[in-house]
Amino acid sequence: MVHDAMLESGHEQVTHFVDEETGLRAIVAIHDTTLGPALGGTRLLPYETEADALRDVMRLSRAMTYKAAAADLELGGGKAVIVDDPDEKTEAKFRAYGRMVDRLGGHYITSVDVNTGVAEMDVVAEGTDHVVGTSDGLGDPSPVTARGIFSGIRASVETVYGTDDFDDRTVVVQGVGKVGQNLVGLLREAGATVKVSDVDEAAVESVVAEYGVESVAPEDVYDEPCDVFAPCAVGGVINDETIPRLDCDVVAGGANNVLAERRHAADLHERGILYAPDYVINAGGLITVAKEHEGGTMADAMAEAEAIGDRLLDLIGRAEDHETTVLDAAERYARERIGGADEARVASPQ
Ligand code: NAD
Repeated sequence: MVHDAMLESGHEQVTHFVDEETGLRAIVAIHDTTLGPALGGTRLLPYETEADALRDVMRLSRAMTYKAAAADLELGGGKAVIVDDPDEKTEAKFRAYGRMVDRLGGHYITSVDVNTGVAEMDVVAEGTDHVVGTSDGLGDPSPVTARGIFSGIRASVETVYGTDDFDDRTVVVQGVGKVGQNLVGLLREAGATVKVSDVDEAAVESVVAEYGVESVAPEDVYDEPCDVFAPCAVGGVINDETIPRLDCDVVAGGANNVLAERRHAADLHERGILYAPDYVINAGGLITVAKEHEGGTMADAMAEAEAIGDRLLDLIGRAEDHETTVLDAAERYARERIGGADEARVASPQ
């Protein structure tokens, strides 16, 4: 059964690990290493069944292949899940996990994800060199992520309005956490009018005070007239219910899996809204850990994130040539880079 699922999704290797002494249960999925070692974080969740954990790790690892390929990185796609209660995590489990990652011989490089952070990666590093996101690393990638998103928004604005001048542009930023706050700073610096929205009132107050921006109630955010809607909070916010409410020309933000379903890219396209694919413009985080792995600096990562706008312009051009969405063009480009993978198995990373 697993073999069939692997063949269907194009996975190279799926490895289950248990450690009896600590109770560790982990699955590492290596999707594709054509472009380089498979990099992706370790997600720790109390999955109800092993099948749920397997499905998640296979889905997430495949998406990483696309993200790395579309970001022009020499990396493949991988991901790991640890089946556990976040309250039950112990150093011993992560030490055992590090030894297990090491057995994969560098074909998989791990990092932080949901419920794993710098502290856990430091313990993992006791057992393997194939880990990034440790306290010796480059640190919080959010400013780099925001820089890449800003570059993507600028390219989108240039495409739609024929100028990348922000003086007459209004951008609504949904979610002013680590990424959103940095993005607001960059947009204000460029001269844009910015409106922010967040379920965390204190976060909104602090950004309003720092940048002199307006706020929008979370429930009204989709109706707010603007040029660019930048979702930087959670996934799934572009859906059947919200698309008809949008009063913007561009959707470009940092949230992962911003489309509830892949078909929503076509829905936006039909309504004349340019959608900059999330994984193309939020690749700054991945670029940062890739740089860390190569021994590069934060400045190197920033420079690469700055180039995301040019990559997006190229993809927008390809989408126009093929009369398709930018999301389709991004997938096509990633497939070209990976090469050889058949169409059926790589239909979509979403
Ligand atoms: P964060 O947790 O620091 O901030 C998220 C913010 O969104 C919080 O302030 C939260 O209150 C707010 N929020 C949550 N639900 C909301 C809702 N329904 N409406 C409005 N606001 C809501 O996270 P982050 O690191 O800033 O990441 C934001 C998004 O970008 C996530 O989807 C993340 O996966 C993605 N992302 C982040 C990075 C990175 O470098 N941090 C890289 C790539 C992608």
